[in-house]
Amino acid sequence: MLILLLLIQITILMKTLGVLNGLVVTTILLIGLILLCRFSLKMKLPKSRYSRITWEDMPWLYDGIARMANRARIQTPTIYIEDNPIPIAYSFQNSIVLSAGLFEILDRDEILAVAAHEIGHIKNGDTFLFPLLRYGKYVMGIMTLITVFIAKNSLTSLISVGVFLTYMVTLLRFLRKREFKADRIALQIAEVPYALKTALEELKFYEESMLGKDTPLPTIQPSLDRKENNYNQQTILFSTHPTYEERIAKIMSIVDMYRRLELLK
Ligand SMILES: [Zn+2]
Repeated sequence: MLILLLLIQITILMKTLGVLNGLVVTTILLIGLILLCRFSLKMKLPKSRYSRITWEDMPWLYDGIARMANRARIQTPTIYIEDNPIPIAYSFQNSIVLSAGLFEILDRDEILAVAAHEIGHIKNGDTFLFPLLRYGKYVMGIMTLITVFIAKNSLTSLISVGVFLTYMVTLLRFLRKREFKADRIALQIAEVPYALKTALEELKFYEESMLGKDTPLPTIQPSLDRKENNYNQQTILFSTHPTYEERIAKIMSIVDMYRRLELLK
């Protein structure tokens, strides 16, 4: 669907600029997109804030993640701990970053469950897909702007803007679906599947207790818990992450299903 919308936008652009110019602009934008993604994936983490965890540092964490990665049939990810009091987790390439804040509010099983969710993202290819989609959004935006400014036909501009808005809404829905998908993997590979539920409850409680306090928001994605300041309909519609309630409800239904399957055996 997202690719279809991109193709429609490229077609509109070619209609506006002429096929050749349209192709040139599209090619330049796509090359820019690829370079940007490559650059962002190559970025190194500053050593002062991120420490790489080896088995000697935390055997329980390292072994736990290694076992889950094995179950997910991926290479054991590199584990980093970020010197950050806000409890967050995210992943990039084949690495998982856990903030120091997580260790303050979660127990070991819960931290491993959070890591399991990030392994889910790695397994699902989200660590490559998300940057592509994030920058792809700008490519769509630039194409829309060019069309709107150059097209003398207001209908063309309108369609172009419409395609862009549809793309954005579809993208958000897609990203939210990926979160549920990562949770599903987490439940399959975590040793204590229910720990993901209690971890989310702890994080939710933490967020609610922090409400109103103006803390800088971590925006690196894919993150387990972007801070969203209120859960009204608007933020749910425009949020890339499902609310904790939604995730907890899904997790409970999946865990219940597993239990029932166990009983049937
Ligand atoms: Zn996530």
